[in-house]
Amino acid sequence: MDHYNQSIGCWCGTTALEPFSEHYLFCPSCKSLRLNASVGDVAHVSDGETDLYGKYYYLRHLPEKYGYPDIETRARHDLPERCLYWLRTLLKYKPPPSKILELGCAHGGFVSLLQWAGYEATGLELSPWLANYASGIFGVTVLAGPIEDQQIAPASLDVIVLMDVLEHLQNPVATVSHCLGLLKPDGIFLIQTPSFPENKSYEQLQNESSPFLEQLKYDEHLHLFSKSSITEFFSRIGFDSVRFEPAIFSHYDMFFLSGRTAVTVHPQEEIVTALTVSPSGRLMQALIDIDDEKRNWIRKYAEAEADRAARLAVIHKLEQQLAEAEADRTAKLAAIHKLERQHLTAQKRFRQISQELHGIVAERDKELEIVKTSFSWRITSLLRWVLGKISSTEKP
Ligand SMILES: [Zn+2]
Repeated sequence: MDHYNQSIGCWCGTTALEPFSEHYLFCPSCKSLRLNASVGDVAHVSDGETDLYGKYYYLRHLPEKYGYPDIETRARHDLPERCLYWLRTLLKYKPPPSKILELGCAHGGFVSLLQWAGYEATGLELSPWLANYASGIFGVTVLAGPIEDQQIAPASLDVIVLMDVLEHLQNPVATVSHCLGLLKPDGIFLIQTPSFPENKSYEQLQNESSPFLEQLKYDEHLHLFSKSSITEFFSRIGFDSVRFEPAIFSHYDMFFLSGRTAVTVHPQEEIVTALTVSPSGRLMQALIDIDDEKRNWIRKYAEAEADRAARLAVIHKLEQQLAEAEADRTAKLAAIHKLERQHLTAQKRFRQISQELHGIVAERDKELEIVKTSFSWRITSLLRWVLGKISSTEKP
């Protein structure tokens, strides 16, 4: 890599980074990836055309560069998909009522879902335009600007949510440490971020066509963590517990909770009770029940598909065996026809030879008769001649 930038350091403090790909460096100390470029202030957004996370980013950049749905479509489709998925996980570890802040809440759908479930939830967006948009469509409170600029009381939050945010932070240690000061002693982070397979080189990822390659978005992803580096990251800021959960986009993401001490799972009955204290919470419970049914149908469909595929494989095998048997039968039939033709030819030839032999025998018989007649005549003549001689000799 000829443009290796030695001034770029990893979040862990290491500056001796190694080349990884055209745009990324690898930290041999913590196994993270670091964008090989310095970026300016991306946290303060005025919604001008040039601000990275301004209006342009959501209306033009994401749909045009990555083919993502527009923000209005996302606001509708994310609710029963990723937002519900995240809510279900959060309910297990921190049932309502709890005070939650989501950094980078985009359209605000998850904040809204959290409120409906019974949480006291607030969102935050760097873009004032998006903060207004989210407040407008979901009626939730969305703060605008960097977290460091907000007036939030220390140790006042139960949960801070960062979905697809950590990788964008210029100084993740500083920002997450600031957030940590806002959490109560038993407060937790709920985080989704790309998962770098730390033992693989860029070439290996390319050879495997790894989905993680999609996350090497060099115009916005500054830090990409592996599971071990994220564990070290939180350990260094004083959060010794990192509990990984299955990510909804598990082919390139990780999803986890982190706290000062180990997070505990609440009993199902407690979650149901927490949801049924409000009408909107009951609606969330109904949504979860429908989601359970959907998952059940998906599982059954997958089983039926697997069974169908297995039966189809058997049918294909039988078809192949039938085709082989047909081919064998055709080949044998062709051999029989050939033998029949050879037999007919042999019979015909036999008749010809037989006729020829009869002809030859008849000819020989005729010749023999002639010879016999000729011989008989000659013998008769000889006898006459001999008798004639004898009679002439006996006469004196
Ligand atoms: Zn590092």
